[in-house]
Amino acid sequence: MADLVLRGGYLDGETVDLLIQGGQIAAIGPQLEAAGATEIDARGLLLSPPFIESHIHLDTTLTAGEPKWNESGTLFEGIETWAARKKSLSREDVMRRATTLLRWQAAQGVLHVRSHVDTTDPELTAVRALLEVREKMRDLVEVQLVAFPQEGILSFPKGAELLEEALRLGVDVVGGIPHYELTRDMGAQSVAISFQLAEKYSRPVDIHCDETDDPQSRFLEVVAAEAIRTGMGEMVTASHTTAMGSYDDAYAFKLMGFLRRARINFVANPLINITLQGRMDTYPKRRGLTRVKELWQNGLNVSLGYDDVMDPWYSLGTGNMLQPAHMAVHVAQMTGRAEVVACYDMVTTHAARTLGIADRYGLAVGRPADLVLLEAKDKWNAIRRLAPIRMVIRGGRVVAETTASRTTLLGEPIDLSAER
Ligand SMILES: [Zn+2]
Repeated sequence: MADLVLRGGYLDGETVDLLIQGGQIAAIGPQLEAAGATEIDARGLLLSPPFIESHIHLDTTLTAGEPKWNESGTLFEGIETWAARKKSLSREDVMRRATTLLRWQAAQGVLHVRSHVDTTDPELTAVRALLEVREKMRDLVEVQLVAFPQEGILSFPKGAELLEEALRLGVDVVGGIPHYELTRDMGAQSVAISFQLAEKYSRPVDIHCDETDDPQSRFLEVVAAEAIRTGMGEMVTASHTTAMGSYDDAYAFKLMGFLRRARINFVANPLINITLQGRMDTYPKRRGLTRVKELWQNGLNVSLGYDDVMDPWYSLGTGNMLQPAHMAVHVAQMTGRAEVVACYDMVTTHAARTLGIADRYGLAVGRPADLVLLEAKDKWNAIRRLAPIRMVIRGGRVVAETTASRTTLLGEPIDLSAER
């Protein structure tokens, strides 16, 4: 007898049962005969692998308005505001806020999270706190930490040493922010340092790269060159790359060929970049997003992140990954049938590649029994309706449940699904 059986859920256009045994998926198929110690009626619900947050800042989350609100809405006022808030960081403060967000995420089916953590702090307070949170939350959410030098590797006192110290303490991934270094040369040099540390400590790389509307910000080519030189390819991620949305086509097309050779991953953060970028423009006003659709069409791995939830860069947010997917459909104009589905994949299977966990992720026999049940018949409708997430299963155990929603109009129940 199986531990748990889900009956009659939607998966890839079919209606299936899913058996869980020993924390793993034991069988998937229509009308399976085996009984389960527990049986769950999944009729009308989509079976999905868990959502993956591939770019968030758990150390800055839930600080919006402290010590002041970001009134200009720019990246730079965000960095200034954070520099002020950072002075009052404590272990307890960081742990409390990060744990709160991780619990929100888990309740909404996000079971893998890659979080950047600011290393430009002589005490590395947030680094130490998030390393503790990573261990404490391990049974519910798997967290990867990226050592992120918010104020620069070469432009902040002892920036490189602090970055390395974070890796020694156990941070999983090496970060960078070349476009915020004081000069172009320092930016290129900072990318080289990130890769040297990655090779020295055998860690992946995830760089905040060209998060600006400046068409002259060209550190993505430096990241691609380092990925090719080191052969690190799929272990390398370029986050944001919003300047690519402002490059002229002659340069962007040439670069695309190099990117295909480099095989690096991309993370776009559509909620944040549609609000942060374009702030220096009057009209026409740029969208400030990287070329999500074109990267995807070129066979490159693109995933989507939330980036910020209620912090100096973005005062809104819930952590629900359907929201960045929904925003990407609009901002990247990915409205074709396959394109909408691709945006769903960008917060699930594509993000698994970005995090380097694709070999132990997904709804297949032998994989961990981690899944999400949504009120939708397929991925397209899940995005269209920002579908309610009804159940989250982690390692074969139900960890979160949401009661079915029911709306009435003039006293009569009304069905708002109209799925097609
Ligand atoms: Zn970020």
